Amino acid sequence: MFSKYPRLPLLLLSASFACAQVSANNAVETVPAKNITYPNKARNAISITFDDARATQLTEGVPLLNQYQVKGTFYLIPNAVSEHIAGWKAAAKAGHEIGNHSSSHLCTGNFQWLRSQNAGLEQVNLVWMEKDILDANTYLETNLGVKIRSFAYPCGQTFVGRGEAVKSYVPIVAKYFDTGRRWLDETGNNPGYVDFVQLTSLDIDGKTFEQVKQMIEQLRANNAWIILTGHDVGSSAQYTTDKQMLTQLFGYLQAPENGFWLGTVSEVADHIRAQRTAPKTELK
Ligand SMILES: [Zn+2]
Repeated sequence: MFSKYPRLPLLLLSASFACAQVSANNAVETVPAKNITYPNKARNAISITFDDARATQLTEGVPLLNQYQVKGTFYLIPNAVSEHIAGWKAAAKAGHEIGNHSSSHLCTGNFQWLRSQNAGLEQVNLVWMEKDILDANTYLETNLGVKIRSFAYPCGQTFVGRGEAVKSYVPIVAKYFDTGRRWLDETGNNPGYVDFVQLTSLDIDGKTFEQVKQMIEQLRANNAWIILTGHDVGSSAQYTTDKQMLTQLFGYLQAPENGFWLGTVSEVADHIRAQRTAPKTELK
């Protein structure tokens, strides 16, 4: 019975040390955006992402990105991948990042396609969601031979449950992934401040080049990291990113005088994170 007492102060000590560590990490987790720099003195980082593993991403999107040497991040659903495994393996081999978009693609049950199946985020809990996400990781890593580091929230929604029982599943994403990407946001990411598991992204489906360019130009302050998200690739529609728009967009983003650095979500996150956690020489 005596043996436990001497350990108590040690435990308390280590607990307070752990708290101090957390505070210290938080302190360096947020830095002025001006302290974050990008390769080639670019003013902004840009990531181009696509969701759902839609067939036109392989037939239209990946070839176009390859032609312009742009690396995209593709958030895949196992069911949609299963008939095109060779194509997605080739996309990964070409340098595109593969991310997780869950197994079920569950969103709010207010969508008619979910109501008709009696399904919805309002009806599940965190245990269910964790399994749904991890099942997709296992499938994608096993079949495509990649390591999954990024997650995109289906429909951009981050909750499970209803009313007082609502819970955020962001902490689950934080546990298993380096980054989590939202959707339909109205702002870019402040690189000195952003929570890497709640990255904002802007919708590029159904938009002209002029509309996308205007959206980007409005959000360039604070060295913002701007993430763009599309679904199908072809002729402009509600869930289709226009191929001609993409061609013009790549030209604009790749002109050095415009000051953009294009990278996958994990490339940009790693680049920013290294500057947020590394001690600054000017800080004591
Ligand atoms: Zn989706």
